Amino acid sequence: MVASPNIRRREKNKKQKSKIQEIILNIITDTNWQQYAKDIKLETRAFIDGHFVDAISGGTFERINPATGKHLAQIAACDAADVDVAVRAARAAFESGVWRDLKPTERKRIMLNWANLMRENLAELALLETLDTGKPIKESVNVDASSCANTIQWYAECIDKMYDEIAPNGNSSLVMVSREAIGVVGAVVPWNYPLIITAWKLGPALAAGNSVVLKPAEQSSLSALKLAALAKEAGIPDGVLNVVTGLGHIAGQALGMHPDVDVIVFTGSTEVGRKFLEYSAKSNIKRIGLELGGKSPHIVTRNADLEKAAMYVAYAIWYNQGESCNAGSRLLLERGLRDEFMALLKPWAERLKPGDPLDPSTEMGALISPEHCSRVLEYIALGQQEGASVAIGGAQVLQESGGVFIQPTVLENVTNNMRVAREEIFGPVLVCIEFDTLEEAIQIANDSEYGLAAAIWSNDINQAHLAAKRLRAGTVWINAFDHTSVNAPFGGYKQSGFGRDKSLHAFEEYTQLKTTWLELHGSTV
Ligand code: NAP
Ligand code: MG
Repeated sequence: MVASPNIRRREKNKKQKSKIQEIILNIITDTNWQQYAKDIKLETRAFIDGHFVDAISGGTFERINPATGKHLAQIAACDAADVDVAVRAARAAFESGVWRDLKPTERKRIMLNWANLMRENLAELALLETLDTGKPIKESVNVDASSCANTIQWYAECIDKMYDEIAPNGNSSLVMVSREAIGVVGAVVPWNYPLIITAWKLGPALAAGNSVVLKPAEQSSLSALKLAALAKEAGIPDGVLNVVTGLGHIAGQALGMHPDVDVIVFTGSTEVGRKFLEYSAKSNIKRIGLELGGKSPHIVTRNADLEKAAMYVAYAIWYNQGESCNAGSRLLLERGLRDEFMALLKPWAERLKPGDPLDPSTEMGALISPEHCSRVLEYIALGQQEGASVAIGGAQVLQESGGVFIQPTVLENVTNNMRVAREEIFGPVLVCIEFDTLEEAIQIANDSEYGLAAAIWSNDINQAHLAAKRLRAGTVWINAFDHTSVNAPFGGYKQSGFGRDKSLHAFEEYTQLKTTWLELHGSTV
C-alpha cells in the first residue's frame, strides 16, 4: 500500500524530530562535562553597544558554583553609570532605525540566524547555565538551552506574519490602527530559568523592533553574556541588545529609575516587582510587566488516575530543585488517599535524589546558593513547629561536595493558614493539605495571594471543568502539570503579576497602538 501524502509528511516530521532529539541526546551523553567545565573560558564583562566591557568603576562581584562551593567567576558589577551608557546606546540604535526599520523579512532572517547559532552552541550554553545555577546538565541541554533557541525561532517566524488593522469608519476616512515598537526595553530576570525567561523577553521585544537592556540575576550572568555574543555574530546591530551585569539594588534599580527606559519587563519575586512599580511612579511612568511568585495548588481527587497524578505531582514540585515560579507546591489531596498517595510519591523522591549536576544521569541538582539553602531548611523546620510532619525527605545532603543540596521533601498535616502553605519556599518542599469536598478544595486553592498556576486531577470531566473555571490562576491544567508551549500565554492572576509572556499576546507588552486617521477629501460617499 502506498502511504498517503499526509502519512508521508507525518513520517518525515517524525524523522526530523527524532533526528533533533538524537543530536541532543548525543550532546548529553558524549560530552565530557567535567573536562569541559575545566577548559571553558568564561566571558564575565558586560555587553554594551556591541562590545564586551568592564564596569566603568572597575568593580566586580564573585559567583560561586553552588554545586561545589568553589569560585566560578568575577563578574562585572555595573552601576548607574554603566546602565546609563547602555540605555543611551539602546536609544541611539532605536532612533537610528538600524533595527526597527529593517524589512520584517530581514529582522526575521537575523533572528533565525541567532536561533541557529544557539543550537550550534547548545552544549556551551547549557554548561554555563548548569555551572551558574546548579541545575542538572541533562535538563540544561534538553530543556533550557533548547527551548531558548526554539522561542527565539518562534518569534522570528512571527515577524512577517503580523497584520495591522483598519477601523470600520466608512468610506470618507481611512483609519489605520498599527502596532509600533515602544523604544528601549529594560528586561530584569531571575536565576531559576535564565535562558528560558530571557528568551521569553528578548524574543518578542526584538521581533517587534525594540532595543533592549537586559539585567540578568547576579547568580546567573554567564548564559546571558553568551547569548549577547551570539546575537552579534548573528547580525543584530550594535546597541540593539545590551547586557548589564550587576546587583539588583544597584544596576536593577538604575534601570528601573532610568528616565529614558520606556518599558520594564520583570520576572522575579513579588517583593521586587513592587519596587519596579515604585520606580516607574517615581521616574517617567514607564510601562511595567510583572511575572512574579506563586504557591500553586495541585488538586488530586479520588476520581484521578493516582499513579499518573503522583508522577506529575513529583515533577511539579521537585523539577529544577523546586526553584520554579509555577511549582505545584501545595498538594490538595482528597481525604482518605494519603497513605496510598505518599507510597506512590516515595519512588519518585528516590529517583529524584540530588546528585552532581554535571553527571548526565542526575535529575536533581544543587540549590542556587548556601543562603537560599538555609532559607529552605528554615521553612522545613518552621513547618514542623507549626504542626506539620515530614513524610518524605527533609534533610540537606551531599555536604561533602561543598555544594548545597536538599532532598525531595513532603510536609503533611499542613493547614492552609500555616506559613509553609502561604509563602513561596522556592525549594523542593511540597506541603500536603487534605480536603473533603471539591468546593472546599477550590476554596483552599484560591485562598492565596498568588495566582500563577493550578491543576486538578479528575477523570470526571464535569468536575474537572467546573473546577478549572473557578480556579483563579493564569494557567490551569486538567490531568497534567507544567505542559507548556511557546504559543500558550503564561502569567499570573492576583499578586503573581500582570502581563503575559509567550504567544502572540506577549507583543502587547512590547508594542503600542497608533491610530492614523486619514480624511479622504473628495469622497463621493
Ligand atoms: P528577585 O530577587 O526578585 O530578583 C529578580 C531580579 O530582580 C534579579 O535580576 C535581581 O537582581 C533584581 N533585583 C533584586 N533586587 C532589586 C531591586 N531592589 N531593584 C531592582 N532589581 C532588583 O528574584 P530571584 O530570587 O532572582 O528569583 C526568584 C523569584 O522569581 C521567585 O519569587 C519566583 O517565583 C519568581 N519567578 C517568577 C516567574 C514567573 O514567570 N512568574 C518565573 C521565574 C521566577 P539580583 O539577582 O542581582 O539581586
Ligand atoms: Mg536576587
